Amino acid sequence: MALDSYLAAHNLALIPRQSSYRAVVTRSPISKGSVIIESPPLCSFPTSSVADSICNHCFNSQVSSSHSLMRCSRCKSALYCSVRCQRKAWNLHHKWLCDGIITNNTNGDYEMLRRVCLVIGGIAKKEYLTDYDVLYETFGGLMDHKNDYSQDMLEYFNHVATAILNELSSIKNFNKNNFTTNNLVSFLCIFGCNNFTVHDNQIFPVGEGTYPVGSLFNHSCYPNAVVMYHGNVQVIKAIEDISSNDEVMISYIDTANTKTTRQQLLTAKYYFDCECIRCNDNVPLMTFKDVDHLLVPASSTMPTTLLLELSTRQRTLLSPLLPSLFTIPTSIPPTLLPSLLSQPHTPLTLLSQHLSDLLRNELWDIAAGIGYRILAIYILCYPKYHPMIGLHLYTMAKCFWNSTSGGRTAVEEAVKLSASARAVLEVSYKDCGKINWDVINAIDDLSMMALKELNI
Ligand SMILES: [Zn+2]
Ligand SMILES: [Zn+2]
Ligand SMILES: [Zn+2]
Repeated sequence: MALDSYLAAHNLALIPRQSSYRAVVTRSPISKGSVIIESPPLCSFPTSSVADSICNHCFNSQVSSSHSLMRCSRCKSALYCSVRCQRKAWNLHHKWLCDGIITNNTNGDYEMLRRVCLVIGGIAKKEYLTDYDVLYETFGGLMDHKNDYSQDMLEYFNHVATAILNELSSIKNFNKNNFTTNNLVSFLCIFGCNNFTVHDNQIFPVGEGTYPVGSLFNHSCYPNAVVMYHGNVQVIKAIEDISSNDEVMISYIDTANTKTTRQQLLTAKYYFDCECIRCNDNVPLMTFKDVDHLLVPASSTMPTTLLLELSTRQRTLLSPLLPSLFTIPTSIPPTLLPSLLSQPHTPLTLLSQHLSDLLRNELWDIAAGIGYRILAIYILCYPKYHPMIGLHLYTMAKCFWNSTSGGRTAVEEAVKLSASARAVLEVSYKDCGKINWDVINAIDDLSMMALKELNI
């Protein structure tokens, strides 16, 4: 019952659905840009590649210009942004990790299971965990899909579960009898098909988390909501106006993939066949089947001469087609897709790879042209207020601002692109904490500089 009233307090309800077990629906209209629900993790930890640059508890990377993150004075490994975070982490898991009773293991499965068991096993001090009762109840109701995992995987899980049970038995007060290896295998199965990758304000992965409330939301390849993170707090934001009693849906995978790839990714990890509007190909205005053609991966790279030619062609072909992208809301020009399809096949993965190389080498003008083509593809496969579109518009604004040969026109383009980037990103980044808002501030700074140069 706790979960029902928790959701009701956010104007949400969980209803049974024949096709998908259950669905989260709204009980009153939600406008685009609103926070649908905010929820802390049952457990989370930073990925090893960034563990040395973010707070081990809240994933904050910035403290202040005069303070750096502080290290646990005993183990010298865990980093914290504040005494408050250090105290929380200490009482939830670090007390046992730090002492060396439990070996630090960078394997995510061990780490997550260890932390979840400390919390559920009554060792961790739950008063340091927000909304514990709701998280615990919700976690218990998640599907483990145990029958869908391969025998090899279940054997591996069994191995991890046994190791963790042995480890935890050495802790005073840990009641081993509360758990069986089987329970722990179920937990690992739940992690496998429910856990989230936590990302920063550039959508770069920074951690892993068990977010039982977030796991209640079903997937769509053309979602009406996105998952954002304010530190390690998960925030579900509406990127469309959502009517009363409509289902709120998020994406579990990067949806800039063909239907075949998306379906493969979803069945392999989440064990369901997607029947969303995009997979059923019944969105008016365009056919996703044709968009798929632009997303087919290729293995070879493009020679520089071809890249240059492609970049120039995108600017002449797409630039006049896309003025509607500079106004929000964006409308998709009917000739956009035919224009993209009439050109040589250049898959998105390849274009993205080339774009990052061009940006790294500061080849701004060619990057801007390639950026046009990526933008056009994004517009066709992401919902229009998706943060990927906003971040890409910002990247393009930077390309035009840095362009050395574009003159006044390029600066004007930078102004228009920054305005669009802001309008798109505001929807998902607003009310998501300072770190996310910093991106909007950076866009404003760019825009100010450009306007100043134009003497406006
Ligand atoms: Zn912190
Ligand atoms: Zn320590
Ligand atoms: Zn789908």
